[in-house]
Amino acid sequence: MPSTALLCSAANIDVNVKRFTGGTAMKILVPVKRVIDYNVKPRVKPDGTGVDLANVKMSMNPFDEIAVEEAIRLKEKGVATEIVAVSVGPDKAQETLRTALAMGADRAILVVAEDVEPLGVAKLLAKIVEEEAPGLVILGKQAIDDDSNQTGQMLAALTGRPQGTFASKVEVSGDSVNVTREVDGGLETVSLKTPAIVTTDLRLNEPRYASLPNIMKAKSKPLAQKTPADYGVDVSPRLKTLKVSEPPVRSAGIKVADVDALVAKLKEMGVAA
Ligand code: AMP
Repeated sequence: MPSTALLCSAANIDVNVKRFTGGTAMKILVPVKRVIDYNVKPRVKPDGTGVDLANVKMSMNPFDEIAVEEAIRLKEKGVATEIVAVSVGPDKAQETLRTALAMGADRAILVVAEDVEPLGVAKLLAKIVEEEAPGLVILGKQAIDDDSNQTGQMLAALTGRPQGTFASKVEVSGDSVNVTREVDGGLETVSLKTPAIVTTDLRLNEPRYASLPNIMKAKSKPLAQKTPADYGVDVSPRLKTLKVSEPPVRSAGIKVADVDALVAKLKEMGVAA
């Protein structure tokens, strides 16, 4: 193809993207965490120092799968130009990033560090945001292992960007993002100016499964390895876990013959007058 034709088609793509987004086609950063698979029942270590991770199936945090899916949908609509997945975790978190790449992310960054608390993760993400300048960062609302629900909010504070948390709908128009949020008793829609931070709730979308050809393709997509020192971030823990214990075992219920027996039993237990 002559080079002028190439130039023309590239320009057309650019015009199309700009028409759709009002001129702000953007990069999306998606932080993904490697956690115990949600189907696995966690076991507490006998010494109560934490959860036993030996030989346990690990997967991408489910809310982060939803974040990756949303980013891909925005790219398919022409709103986003590039999706960068990032994880802070052990070497094995490469697998989690490869899953994001197989779903449709373009490239990945792994910051190798173990057991980093949400503030440490947010500080690292803030540095990556500075370097990558994404128009949107889409995180999960919480990681199902620590249930912190902190990282997105801390990242918004550290970067001074507006945040739309617990998103059940995300609509980008020009330099605005409308985020519909699940709040007590209903839905609230907030409008943010990009660049912004969004965290996903369960009903935002249903993540796709990666196809086999895409799993193969993901193996050759770029994955950069970094350390916290590369970003000048101190990730030493600020919290000390005192004890981890199993939830109390529920005592077995009893059966009563009829309503009268139920009322009598409740009175006997002192929960009804
Ligand atoms: P949390 O505040 O720990 O409940 O996590 C909220 C969200 O922050 C997760 O759903 C991820 O999107 C992101 N996140 C937390 N920890 C990490 C990590 N180690 N690596 C990448 N993303 C993370």
